[in-house]
Amino acid sequence: MQSVYPKKENCCGCGACSAICAMQAIHMLPDEEGFLYPKIDPTRCVNCRRCTGICPILQEGNYKQNGLPSVCAARHKSKQVLQNSTSGGAFTAVSDAILRQGGIIYGADFDESFRVIHRRAETTEQRDRMRFSKYVQSDMGDTYTRIKKDLKAGRITFFTGTPCQCAGLRGFIGESSLTENLYMCDLICYSIPSPLVWEDYKNLLEEEYGEKITGIQFRSKNLGWSRDNSKKGFLFTTDKNPNKQEDNRFYQLFFKSGSITRPSCSQCQFTDIHRVSDLTIADYWGIEKYSPDFFDPLGVSLILINSPKGEDLLRQCQQDMITENRSPEEALNEQKRLSEPLPLSQNRTQFWKDYKHFGLRYVLEKY
Ligand SMILES: Cc1cc2nc3c(=O)[nH]c(=O)nc-3n(C[C@H](O)[C@H](O)[C@H](O)COP(=O)(O)OP(=O)(O)OC[C@H]3O[C@@H](n4cnc5c(N)ncnc54)[C@H](O)[C@@H]3O)c2cc1C
Repeated sequence: MQSVYPKKENCCGCGACSAICAMQAIHMLPDEEGFLYPKIDPTRCVNCRRCTGICPILQEGNYKQNGLPSVCAARHKSKQVLQNSTSGGAFTAVSDAILRQGGIIYGADFDESFRVIHRRAETTEQRDRMRFSKYVQSDMGDTYTRIKKDLKAGRITFFTGTPCQCAGLRGFIGESSLTENLYMCDLICYSIPSPLVWEDYKNLLEEEYGEKITGIQFRSKNLGWSRDNSKKGFLFTTDKNPNKQEDNRFYQLFFKSGSITRPSCSQCQFTDIHRVSDLTIADYWGIEKYSPDFFDPLGVSLILINSPKGEDLLRQCQQDMITENRSPEEALNEQKRLSEPLPLSQNRTQFWKDYKHFGLRYVLEKY
């Protein structure tokens, strides 16, 4: 086979094709925008087509739940957890329920140089590193294979990631008895930015400040949790300055220019109220209108409960989280990514031409 995907818009980079290949013929390699795509080694490929057979994009819709989800607003009872979470701390409450059962958590973490990667956690310390949204596509590495190994060992396993990564995992695991111990939680996903731009941005910060980055937080609640403030508040610390400093230029590229997101996001099939996971978590934007008493300036989570397993998991979180049943209409009103993908920016082609020729500093000024 020549290629797993017909065009770039048809590849979300989840890596399930590479993980399923028994011949190890598929490698995930970055393109000129820094997004990973599968590349087939023709000397190893035996044309079995298992890769295309499980691809969450080519197998359109196959992994989605049939029924409509039920919806709730949720808030962690601990102020400290709220402060250290992006929204209302739903991820911490749900993952704690898994850890209490001796289970394993998979989620997005930073490596030593602040690349975003998926990692495995068995302790609260390891899990805490997965807290906070990292607005960069994570490298899944060998996550799918490790999850299968954990499931085969009879371990309860909880995966969190973007909807396409969850769909990739569903395709990879298939409909075997292994799924009994597998719990999945996705995010409502605005779209996913380029790891190359992220890398260049970190380097630019270090160059400009003449200091080494030692910590990064994409969103903070210093100004209070709100939709507007979610596009500000990028904080970092350095070896010479442990106080958090703010620099919002990465957000300008992500939210305002819209040119640094993956091409497939513009045709995302998972921008749908029918989800691929057991639970979906997000920000409960608009809660102050719908249920003023539930609003908290430290954040409120929106949770979609997509399956009986999701319902069961949420029940196990009641000790840590206050919840309130809400209607799916509110979520649909406030969250565009539950019904339509983010269109490609009209400037995108020119943006990347400029990026290649003149670099990050130039596009930051221009766009
Ligand atoms: C790229 C991206 C786009 C998003 N778009 C929206 C949106 O349009 N609307 C909305 O309401 N919410 C969106 N969210 C979700 C929101 O920002 C919070 O992540 C979510 O509400 C969880 O908050 P929390 O307080 O429960 O958990 P936190 O403790 O903040 O946990 C963060 C969770 O997000 C996962 N995660 C973090 N970064 C990544 C990543 N790069 N890839 C995969 N998983 C990751 C972690 O594994 C963890 O499960 C987005 C998140 C990301 C990463």
